[in-house]
Amino acid sequence: MYAPGQRASNLIYFGLFALQHRGQESAGIATSDGDTLTVYKDMGLVAQVFDETSLAALDGHVGIGHTRYSTTGSTTWENSQPVHRQVGALSIALGHNGNLTNSVQLAERLGWTRPATDSELMAEAIARSVRQAESDDGTLEAALLAALPAFEGAYSLVLMDQAHLVGVRDCHGFRPLSLGRLPGGGWALASETAALDLVGATYEREVEVGEVVIIDSDGVRSVYPFEQVDPRLCIFEFVYFARPDSRLLGRSVHAARQEMGRLLADEHPAEVDVVVPVPESGIPAAQGYAAASGVAYADGLVKNRYVGRTFIEPSRSLRERGIRLKLNPISSTLEGQRVLLVDDSIVRGSTTKQLVQMVRDAGAVEVHLRISSPPYRWPCFYGMDTSDSSQLLAGRLEVDEIAGYLGADSLGYLSVEGLEKATGGGGFCTACLTGLYPTDVTGAADKYALERRL
Ligand code: AMP
Repeated sequence: MYAPGQRASNLIYFGLFALQHRGQESAGIATSDGDTLTVYKDMGLVAQVFDETSLAALDGHVGIGHTRYSTTGSTTWENSQPVHRQVGALSIALGHNGNLTNSVQLAERLGWTRPATDSELMAEAIARSVRQAESDDGTLEAALLAALPAFEGAYSLVLMDQAHLVGVRDCHGFRPLSLGRLPGGGWALASETAALDLVGATYEREVEVGEVVIIDSDGVRSVYPFEQVDPRLCIFEFVYFARPDSRLLGRSVHAARQEMGRLLADEHPAEVDVVVPVPESGIPAAQGYAAASGVAYADGLVKNRYVGRTFIEPSRSLRERGIRLKLNPISSTLEGQRVLLVDDSIVRGSTTKQLVQMVRDAGAVEVHLRISSPPYRWPCFYGMDTSDSSQLLAGRLEVDEIAGYLGADSLGYLSVEGLEKATGGGGFCTACLTGLYPTDVTGAADKYALERRL
């Protein structure tokens, strides 16, 4: 956030609320009044971390914020973001969305021996380039440009020093980042356009693939330090991750999800009485499926809106019924019906297996499962927490075996072609669905590799 004349912390706080779905482990904000950079972060949700007192301590018109969903390193305070570095008079803060595929190599190159995340290593590499620079060129911008070639994999970054806000998208653009204009003058960067809406910023454009955007009192300017490569936005942003009210590549996520459902109905029709979404992820696709198939749409499962992170470990018997914490069936909708259950994806299959059983227990006579994305078969090294392939149900089993395992009467997944059609064409990373990784991932380590090597 670069908001002259305003308190950036207040705007960022609301922006983080809009982005809470992207990470629930920790939350943090860094701000600067031009002279002093302050960081406040803690474990938990945005509403648990910040209150009036902590926000009051965050002065100034420049700032960045972060909510963490970990893909490298444990869920600890030390690993929360923004990451901070002090180099002489220069204070730097960094927030990272994505996952590096060469973090172990980067740690070795930096001679790093403590636990760290890929994000912390990026901040460290940038801080070292500030130190190494000629004294009059020790700026964040110069140091960042010097450090970037050492980073491989997925990163959308927001960075700041006392006076500048910087946004970066890696040369494949795996993770989204958009730029908005604040009403009172100034600029906002956000992972999703829904956050721009909340702070009253007007969507200007996406930060381009491979673009470094620098925002300060002179306005906005861009540097393109990479060779031109094909854009590869994560297709799973469209499937599951992004909010439905966000726009990606100028397209409505909600409309794309409805289209996935329509195409799913064409690809996998079924003789059923009712189409029921798995809330909330399956709702738009179920709407599309019902519209295209002519089968009635009905709510058959209710989601508890207040279940986020569970802080108290439930007893074993409660854990086994864990799904009921999140979802409960409406038996009047399901009883005696041939039910077509729609969800956006199956990753491990544990939730879905319990769901199918729950719908049967509520009286459904048949349960047909339709998934509005292709089988999730391959580990992601670019920012989804699925780097352990043994956990992926479709990595181990074929579709008919999956149906048997889940206890569904039938199972149909949307094809890769259908998904690309619904999202408006190519230019995506589909590695988790196709195994076609846009970059070399042979050196990519698992989530805890940086901690294990110590
Ligand atoms: P499961 O049956 O345990 O694989 O869970 C399937 C559910 O997980 C679906 O409702 C998806 O919307 C949801 N899901 C998909 N990707 C993720 C993710 N990266 N993190 C958490 N939930 C996810």
